[in-house]
Amino acid sequence: MNVLVINAGSSSLKYQLVNLERKELIAKGICERVGSNSAFHKHGLDENEVVIDAKMADHDDAIALVLESLTSGSAKAIDSLDEIDAVGHRIVQGGKYFDRSVLIDEDVVAKIDELAELAPLHNKAALMGIRACQKHMPSVPMVAVFDTSFFQTLPPKAYMYPLPYELYEKYAIRKYGAHGTSHRYIAERAAAVLDEPIEDLKLITCHLGNGCSMAAIDHGVAVDTSMGLTPLDGLMMGTRCGAIDPAIVPFIMEHEGLSTAEVNDLMNKKSGLLGISGISNDLRSVRDASEKGDERAMLAYDMYSNSVKKYIGSYIAVMGGVDAIVLTAGVGENCKKMRRMIFSGLQPLGIILDEEKNRARGFEREISSENSQVKIIIIPTNEEYMIARDTYDILHEKVGVEGGVLDEVPMLA
Ligand code: AMP
Repeated sequence: MNVLVINAGSSSLKYQLVNLERKELIAKGICERVGSNSAFHKHGLDENEVVIDAKMADHDDAIALVLESLTSGSAKAIDSLDEIDAVGHRIVQGGKYFDRSVLIDEDVVAKIDELAELAPLHNKAALMGIRACQKHMPSVPMVAVFDTSFFQTLPPKAYMYPLPYELYEKYAIRKYGAHGTSHRYIAERAAAVLDEPIEDLKLITCHLGNGCSMAAIDHGVAVDTSMGLTPLDGLMMGTRCGAIDPAIVPFIMEHEGLSTAEVNDLMNKKSGLLGISGISNDLRSVRDASEKGDERAMLAYDMYSNSVKKYIGSYIAVMGGVDAIVLTAGVGENCKKMRRMIFSGLQPLGIILDEEKNRARGFEREISSENSQVKIIIIPTNEEYMIARDTYDILHEKVGVEGGVLDEVPMLA
């Protein structure tokens, strides 16, 4: 079965065409700066990648270009759209409605629209992607995979905020989490690497990239996570502040004369590594500057690692222990210095990093020392694979499309 995975961001549209039985990535690409004059489209697998300047007023135009590139031109991947059996869409906010991935129908579309208030840029973009696919491939079934659904298992004590209860009733203000597809994937893979059923494990999963989140997964069930009503909460990130004293918000608004939109912008786009270092949201640039002695860069680096360390401690307390800590995304997978700082001093908790394994490169791997009671594991995330697999499973179950349950995780290139 060929599944087209669509990940529509506010101004971008990433896609992959995968064949699940053959474990093959057939094509991939990204449309960037959708809606601006400088929009462009990268399409194709590594050596065949082409970059095309293209006008894309919106995600509808972007989907049309993607489908055209898949079926024609020098980097075409299939002969016709008939070779696409299903489409899987990544949706950021599924609210209380979706605790799992679902086949898309008009009711699902209406709920995604209703939830756009909680993730305005993302859910609206995803809806345009869904509508465009319906237009160009009306008979192809589609599945929605939500970033939030993995965290619908959180107990009320973890998802409620200590605000007047009426606000929860009126506006559904509560923790929804995000990056759920990534946490679900790395938890599953970590269990496979440990060769233990996930139901026997207490895991702390860390998605550390430009956006950062962590989750406590107790016997396969998510019991807490760091992102909240929106993806602004929790850890310090590239440009997002994460958790801060909420009284700071009215203080800054009053003293700097900022509107709600401006203070939102400040916390989402001008804070985190960028805000503290004044250099970049990219950890590599902050690391380079800190190694040259820049004090604010050193502080940013210290704060980022400390923020992760604090969540490790709190999730150990939440679960009453931990068997493995799993790291993924740009920083988690690649930055040995940050990993060293995160795990330094955690020996009393039975967490010991192996310096040599930490320095080595590789794919899925354990980097804890032989003496560490808690395993530390790196798993490169693969959200697209999870979306494709959910799509495959749902179509098999609900639409009776040929194929069986995929028993093994394929590693798509
Ligand atoms: P992501 O959002 O997962 O793409 O991660 C982006 C972040 O990962 C940026 O802050 C990058 O600086 C960081 N990153 C990527 N590669 C490395 C590396 N080799 N060393 C340190 N940081 C890295």
